[in-house]
Amino acid sequence: MIALNSPLKPDLKKLNKYLERVNDSGWFTNFGPLQNELTGRLEDYLGVKNLLLVNNGTAALQVAGRALGSESILSTPFSFVATASAFKWQKDELAFADIDRSSYNLCPKTVAKAYQEGCRADTVVATHVYGNPCNVSAFDTIKKENNFRIIYDAAHAFGVKLAGKSVLSHGDASTLSFHATKIFHTIEGGAIVFKNNADFDKARELINFGINSGSEITDVGINAKLNEYQAAVGLVNLEQIGSVLEHRAELFHLYREGLKDVAELQQWHPEANANGAYMPIKLENAQQMAKVVQALDNNDIQSRHYFSPSLDRVFEDGFNYGARNCHEVSEGILCLPLHAGMSQKDVNLVIACLLASIG
Ligand SMILES: *Cc1c(COP(=O)(O)O)cnc(C)c1O
Repeated sequence: MIALNSPLKPDLKKLNKYLERVNDSGWFTNFGPLQNELTGRLEDYLGVKNLLLVNNGTAALQVAGRALGSESILSTPFSFVATASAFKWQKDELAFADIDRSSYNLCPKTVAKAYQEGCRADTVVATHVYGNPCNVSAFDTIKKENNFRIIYDAAHAFGVKLAGKSVLSHGDASTLSFHATKIFHTIEGGAIVFKNNADFDKARELINFGINSGSEITDVGINAKLNEYQAAVGLVNLEQIGSVLEHRAELFHLYREGLKDVAELQQWHPEANANGAYMPIKLENAQQMAKVVQALDNNDIQSRHYFSPSLDRVFEDGFNYGARNCHEVSEGILCLPLHAGMSQKDVNLVIACLLASIG
């Protein structure tokens, strides 16, 4: 069987060394030494500052929004459900604009149009879908004209650089998920990278019940801290992440070369590297999708119709500025197996199966 995904497994010997340190010190959570060490290592590895570890990627979105003072969100309809539900959960107003038909990312033009049509959202939330960077320079321009903040959901974009700089350095905040299904993980976990120190300081208090470094309660907070056992998993997994990213990118390019004539491929940002987080193909319609899924099934190859449904159809009370492109992409999008445990031979098998089915 070729599985759609397979979590990175931490080296247990190395993990145990860290856990012994935790047990010896008796410091299990609350900004402990391993959490500190992981923060520094991630900042170095990713080339960012103001990185705050949190307990999952959903909390990362929520805390980023709270730290920036967001109350109304204009989001992308083409993402994992948390990109919208995280904000809905804390009673923020929710609206959607459409995606770009080629990159599958939130389209800056449709965002500008939404503001012309009276959108009052104080914050735009855009996902770097499948790790492919959004058109950040276009967003920078319309952001100034319309005076909104921007949060990038970068849950798929670990290790992606744009024009030589971490993609996480764009926006007022970028959020990461370190869930076990993601490229780099701490089993459950996540992080926020803030542009401004003040927003980082605020968020650090918010994830600890709103308590500041002087033990005063300054705001309504939540508990969203990453614990020391999770940080230990992160430190061990980070040691192998360079080779994991390289291998995934190789498989990704092999797929794209083999499939470019039979299916539509996501248009990748020309100035960005690929991290091989996902391998989506866009099929023509539901019939072709059914045919392909059946052929893959017959060969014991997993696949997933992802993302679907379009989020404006999940949160129907949110204001929708038009999501036609998203509806079309959602209907035909299929993610193929891609993970560090796969070989080039596995990828060639999947390609052969697809070529036999629709080639
Ligand atoms: C995984 C994911 C999340 C949620 O992260 P969790 O750590 O599972 O809470 C949010 N947004 C996107 C785009 C994701 O893929």
